[in-house]
Amino acid sequence: MTKFAFTPHDTVSLPITGSDERFPVRRIYCVGRNYADHVTEMGGDASRSEPTFFTKAAETIVHSGTDIPYAPNTSNLHFEIELVVAIGPDDINDGIFGYGVGIDLTRRDVQSAAKAKGGPWDRAKNFHRSAPCSALTRAETVDITAANLSITKNGETMQNAPLSQMIWKTPEIISRLREDMDLQPGDLIYTGTPAGVGPVAIGDELSGHVDGLAPIKVRFI
Ligand code: MN
Repeated sequence: MTKFAFTPHDTVSLPITGSDERFPVRRIYCVGRNYADHVTEMGGDASRSEPTFFTKAAETIVHSGTDIPYAPNTSNLHFEIELVVAIGPDDINDGIFGYGVGIDLTRRDVQSAAKAKGGPWDRAKNFHRSAPCSALTRAETVDITAANLSITKNGETMQNAPLSQMIWKTPEIISRLREDMDLQPGDLIYTGTPAGVGPVAIGDELSGHVDGLAPIKVRFI
């Protein structure tokens, strides 16, 4: 048995709807620029090109119902509502274990500064408490083909789009990640956000939804 110099961190995990088992999280992959109207609102070219991938640490997960302290070193913390695809150990259905609703919290001012310098934007995306995610729903219990993705801030709808607007569909994203990044059971994929991203302030409540899935609800303090 391995002798560690100190006690390792516990495995990050997510609840599974209707089960007392939990989903052990390994890595978090994120897809950028995956809804044309969001690419356009960010000033980009929405023509289909290579998908943009970035990562967040598993430890950035925030569970639904959590109060989140406003992130440090930003004055423009943004929400991006996203379908989360969870990869499991079975080969059926592209290895998809289930689905969740996630918020890709983004320090937009940090990202803009990094883009202007042509530098990496890891600090804009991969920071403490930057990946709220709902409980997961097992794939075989839900059909999200025609589902809608939406988020409200203090009860007002901010983003609302059908998942069918994704430029890179889930099977294509999975295939790219398998050949490029070593996709494994426990990995989560945040699949990108539609138009309507915007800032949060202390006191704001976000509530994100995909038809048929458990919601994600967080508040900023
Ligand atoms: Mn995103």
